[in-house]
Amino acid sequence: MSVDVVVVGGGPVGLASAIEARLAGLTVTLIEQRDDTIDKACGEGLMPGALPLLARLGVEPEGMPLRGVSYRDAHRHADYLFRGGIGRGVRRTTLHSALTRRAEELGVERVTAKVERVDADATGVTVAGLRAGWLFAADGLHSPVRRLIGLERPGPRRARRFGLRQHFAVAPWSELIEVYWTRRSEVYITPVAPDIVGVAMLGGSRTDFAETVAGIPELAERLTGAEPASSLRGAGPFRQRAARPSKGRVLLVGDASGYVDAITGEGLRLGFAQARVAVAAATGGPAYDGQWRRVTRDFRVLTSGLVGAANSPLRAGIVPAASMLPGLYGAVVERLAR
Ligand SMILES: Cc1cc2nc3c(=O)[nH]c(=O)nc-3n(C[C@H](O)[C@H](O)[C@H](O)COP(=O)(O)OP(=O)(O)OC[C@H]3O[C@@H](n4cnc5c(N)ncnc54)[C@H](O)[C@@H]3O)c2cc1C
Repeated sequence: MSVDVVVVGGGPVGLASAIEARLAGLTVTLIEQRDDTIDKACGEGLMPGALPLLARLGVEPEGMPLRGVSYRDAHRHADYLFRGGIGRGVRRTTLHSALTRRAEELGVERVTAKVERVDADATGVTVAGLRAGWLFAADGLHSPVRRLIGLERPGPRRARRFGLRQHFAVAPWSELIEVYWTRRSEVYITPVAPDIVGVAMLGGSRTDFAETVAGIPELAERLTGAEPASSLRGAGPFRQRAARPSKGRVLLVGDASGYVDAITGEGLRLGFAQARVAVAAATGGPAYDGQWRRVTRDFRVLTSGLVGAANSPLRAGIVPAASMLPGLYGAVVERLAR
């Protein structure tokens, strides 16, 4: 059997890529190793720029409005309201279901399989018994396809950062994404339903979820007595590198193409933007690598800068600086949220 595009990975970016390709008139088969509704450790904040990208695909997931960001430490908070539209807190399972429905509606074929081998040549790719003109690898942070085609590059061995998340049954108390900066981790609170908030935490490999929450009195008080509404999940290490975003007719999209960190809550918007330029490249538009660099530049520069500051003695000054320099803080948030 032969198709125009095979997408490996049925997370949000793989599904978005498949939908985007169908909307461009291409035949698409999506290969995903899991056949249930996929959940994943994530802060679940869709930044304002992600929503129009999803709407273009015909996907409008339900969630809670996110009107801005609030950086907080034990002494102060710096609040910033998005200028160009609002974002949305969306449970990963809700996002997955909405994208899956739309992909099915558009006739994306699905195969449940774990990809362990890729044969690529000048005219296309053979994978899991399928022949395709293009392969979009959206198989996540630890992308097996990236390794199989020789684009994997070692990430840093020091100061590696990981993520944890869990949900709690409590009514959201804010329409801002609250980010609590503790000595060693950042804790994100995202409302995702009228009675559920997500708590996501970024930090080193020894980050203890319960201990970290207990160390933030304001948050611990809000969560006192709230039942967990999901199990604790983790992901990482975040920093993953690819030698380049494509090789011949294999294009890496989403986290598979390399990732810096979740500190700016940008993975989804970025992945949807990559899906769009990947389909453009496969239909005679500009080459993927240059477009990938263009759509990821701000993320790579600003996120690396913030992670660098978070891992340095400057860490303790981040919330005070955001509070004293609201213009600069707002400009950075807007740049990333677009
Ligand atoms: C703690 C944390 C907080 C975050 N917060 C935010 C946030 O608030 N906002 C935001 O936008 N982003 C956030 N992110 C980042 C975001 O979660 C990712 O960028 C996003 O999930 C990337 O989607 P993806 O489709 O590329 O990869 P994934 O969601 O990882 O999907 C990859 C898929 O590929 C499949 N797969 C893997 N290997 C194979 C194989 N060999 N064969 C077949 N299938 C395979 C997997 O089963 C999976 O379904 C956060 C991440 C973390 C860890």
